[in-house]
Amino acid sequence: MLPAVPFRPQSCSVVSKTRGRDRRHDTERRDMRTATHRVLASSLWPLGLALQVSAVAVAGWADPDSVGRAMGATTVAFLIVLLGLEQILPYRRDWSVRRDREIWRDLGYSVLYISLGANLAQIVFLTGLTTALSCLRIPAGLGLWPVGGSMLVQIAGVVLLGDFLEYWYHRLVHTVPWLWPVHAIHHTPIRLNALKGPRHHVIYFLGRGAFVWAPLLVIGVPARLVAWQFAAEVLVGTLAHANIAFEIPAFVHRVLVTPEVHRIHHSVDAREGNSNYSTVFPIWDLLFGTYTDPRLVGVRETGIDPDPVPRRFLAELLSPMTLRESR
Ligand SMILES: [Zn+2]
Ligand SMILES: [Zn+2]
Repeated sequence: MLPAVPFRPQSCSVVSKTRGRDRRHDTERRDMRTATHRVLASSLWPLGLALQVSAVAVAGWADPDSVGRAMGATTVAFLIVLLGLEQILPYRRDWSVRRDREIWRDLGYSVLYISLGANLAQIVFLTGLTTALSCLRIPAGLGLWPVGGSMLVQIAGVVLLGDFLEYWYHRLVHTVPWLWPVHAIHHTPIRLNALKGPRHHVIYFLGRGAFVWAPLLVIGVPARLVAWQFAAEVLVGTLAHANIAFEIPAFVHRVLVTPEVHRIHHSVDAREGNSNYSTVFPIWDLLFGTYTDPRLVGVRETGIDPDPVPRRFLAELLSPMTLRESR
């Protein structure tokens, strides 16, 4: 047995030296944490976007028919990473997914939107409309698309033109009263986090087919290229809903739709909510006078006020048929 060590009280100078050392270590740890957070805050958004775009682009380049599958797989993986990062670097702690009692309904809508909505839109528009055009002996539609041109130019063209059409589709569902109910459930959440991005009604996807995909097919865009339009919306839109305190240079808010730009669109203030309709490129908001600059406006609350949408899965799902409110 070891002999008991007699207790020797430390002198005041030893205690104060130890406390001083502890304080210094605390300060160093805090500085280190702040520096790590700042590096994460400024690098996560461009890095996340670049990684996901590269994965989808490589898969799509190797096999143009795999764009949808590659985008789906990377988005699921990316959503899981984003939900983890939201805990480390939250934009708003009270928007945390851990306190959100709507997450099961969010997941339910997302699964229906991505599976049922996307598949129905593909069957009706990409297959049905393409077949109808062939039956009418105009398989290339109006023949306005440069099908023989560089693939890179064609993809860029589909993304840009598709985003222009998506802007008007989004603007219409906000401004035409009978269309608003198919979009309302995307705006009811009182907190934003990564799970709110795909929280859409199934019918909203069919609307995209009618307002975005059909015009693309009619002018002659090949059906296999149309998937790039939706891939671009998802790639930028997933990050735009994340509850992460990104630090993004001010000029980027005018080049791509950032979380700061899109949060304004979710504002409970109807004037702010009826702005920033763009999904990928804010140029449409800038051109058509609906841009709200995130450097001038900070969103305090999100949602709809008054909110007429019921808070039960089936009732919310049926709300496009039962709701008759305009924003
Ligand atoms: Zn909207
Ligand atoms: Zn949104």
